Amino acid sequence: NKQIILAERPKGLPDSETFKFVDSNVKEPEENQVLVRTLYVSVDPYMRGRMIDAKSYIEPFQLNGVIEGGSIGEVIESKSDKFQQGDIIIGNFGWQEYYCANEKEIRKIDPSLAPITTHLGILGMTGLTAYFGLLDIGQPKEGDTVVISGAAGAVGSVVGQIARIKGARVVGIAGSEDKIEFLKQELNFDEAINYRTTNNIKIELANACPNGVDVYFDNVGGEISDAVFTQLNRHARITVCGSISSYNLKEIDIGPRVQTTLIKKSALMKGFTVGDYSTRFTEGATQLGKWLQEGKLTYRETIEEGFENIPNAFLDLFKGNNIGKQLVKVANR
Ligand code: NDP
Repeated sequence: NKQIILAERPKGLPDSETFKFVDSNVKEPEENQVLVRTLYVSVDPYMRGRMIDAKSYIEPFQLNGVIEGGSIGEVIESKSDKFQQGDIIIGNFGWQEYYCANEKEIRKIDPSLAPITTHLGILGMTGLTAYFGLLDIGQPKEGDTVVISGAAGAVGSVVGQIARIKGARVVGIAGSEDKIEFLKQELNFDEAINYRTTNNIKIELANACPNGVDVYFDNVGGEISDAVFTQLNRHARITVCGSISSYNLKEIDIGPRVQTTLIKKSALMKGFTVGDYSTRFTEGATQLGKWLQEGKLTYRETIEEGFENIPNAFLDLFKGNNIGKQLVKVANR
């Protein structure tokens, strides 16, 4: 059973010292347990936060422990009344080929409703993050201008589409021409800005948002957000979802202070984690599934193949190599 453990807590961008491949025996399931073979592994930016030993909304990964994270697998042996061999399940068993799961740790998914990978993306954690972060905090209204950073990623690409469903004008910020084309052609964003090639993001934003910014859904923080803050309208809402530009910094960076802007604009800025909405996940997933079925939502996945490529797929998130949800396919069904 190949597993990837956290061998060292990274300082800066994780590298080959951070992760170690180990091999262990596959365990036999006990009463109320099932043996799962991993099919797909999700790699997510928040996992970087769990690699350091700091207090957060979720426990740090243990040093020399298997890296945990969302995964989909197939039950290959069951000692539980709730699961049968062949069931497709989702859980948090992470970066390992096989896992003996207690029946309470996993949940069955129905492969006949949607491709199973959607449960790690648009119908899963990242889709729900987009749904609740935008609708509960951003509260876009018809005619509002919604700006999204990290717009072509798993969360951002769903945020923009929901904002359009709600009748907003949508402007995305992303880091490559492929992503700009994806946002404009495939997702019908009104405007998209490539922050890596622009000479002046403030001016480009002002041009793309002639009526100012009513909702800012922030996935990246840093200088991109500093620029968006200069364009806020009165009563703007800012959803602070992520701050990926800072996750690998060795020292905290401090930009312009935003308090006076928030006061002058009577703006609301609110952070959240998707777990805050756990009691409403069924509502969110049902609505996302409905929009998907109706063709109002679409999605992209970037799927790396092979267990050995999991760490690279994770690092690709920080290089911007993914469009939509980044996953790794570990085994065939
Ligand atoms: P993405 O699919 O968006 O992948 C990450 C993307 O971030 C990259 O493709 C890259 O796109 C961009 N990026 C990487 N480094 C930088 C940088 N230095 N500056 C600007 N952009 C950068 O990931 P997710 O959709 O899974 O997550 C998006 C954000 O949402 C993350 O910050 C994550 O932590 C957060 N999140 C928060 C949750 C919550 O509960 N609050 C839950 C899930 C995610 P590009 O080419 O455009 O640079």
